[in-house]
Amino acid sequence: MASMSARLDLSDTRALLSAAAKAVIANKDRLTKADQDIGDGDHGVGMARGFSAFDEATADQYDSIPDLFRGCGKALMMASGGASGVVFGTLFQGAGKSVRSDVFDAEAFVHALEGGLKAVQDRGKANVGDKTMVDALEPAAVAARKALVPGASVEDVAEAAAKAAAAGVEATRGLVAKIGKSKGLGERTVGFVDPGALTTSILLESIADTLRNRAR
Ligand code: ADP
Ligand code: MG
Repeated sequence: MASMSARLDLSDTRALLSAAAKAVIANKDRLTKADQDIGDGDHGVGMARGFSAFDEATADQYDSIPDLFRGCGKALMMASGGASGVVFGTLFQGAGKSVRSDVFDAEAFVHALEGGLKAVQDRGKANVGDKTMVDALEPAAVAARKALVPGASVEDVAEAAAKAAAAGVEATRGLVAKIGKSKGLGERTVGFVDPGALTTSILLESIADTLRNRAR
């Protein structure tokens, strides 16, 4: 990604998604630990398996950026299993439906987050405050939309999203799990971050990092 352009083409977007997948894989142990705290401990393994299929899928043949997102989301969903395979697969498939342009710019980034969030909530029915990845993704989508002022670059918008997601992860410590395998632990989930929220933040942090380095 040597280009200084603020708009990513299909090839740039492949590299962006591949780096984000590798970031999740690199954090496998941290995700395992997070899911051992309030779940069954399989999140790191499931996400590492899912995102390695996702990473391989970034190299497949695609006609467009929306196609790339859909293809990677599908690969993740098929490989990963578990609740989070469906959730994160749905996130990227929903993002793919919402990114209409064939350049990945600031506006496309916001559409991807908003469309991904909507798809996840339509499918999984988690609301903000239920202690899921939605508690990182929703504030990220809101912050990205807010950062989309005239002249905003894709890296500005990604930075805003990543910061909001990280704050969202920390805020999940205060929440009682209302959905999924953690739900049964009730109040005992307080004090721990939600594993899927952490994965969301790792993805967005990687994307912001890649874009920041690219803009230099
Ligand atoms: P499982 O719950 O099947 O063991 P994982 O441990 O891989 O799956 O993933 C758990 C994560 O999935 C949770 O931390 C949460 O963020 C996310 N998750 C589970 N169910 C939902 C849902 N309905 N909507 C959004 N996110 C969800
Ligand atoms: Mg689990």
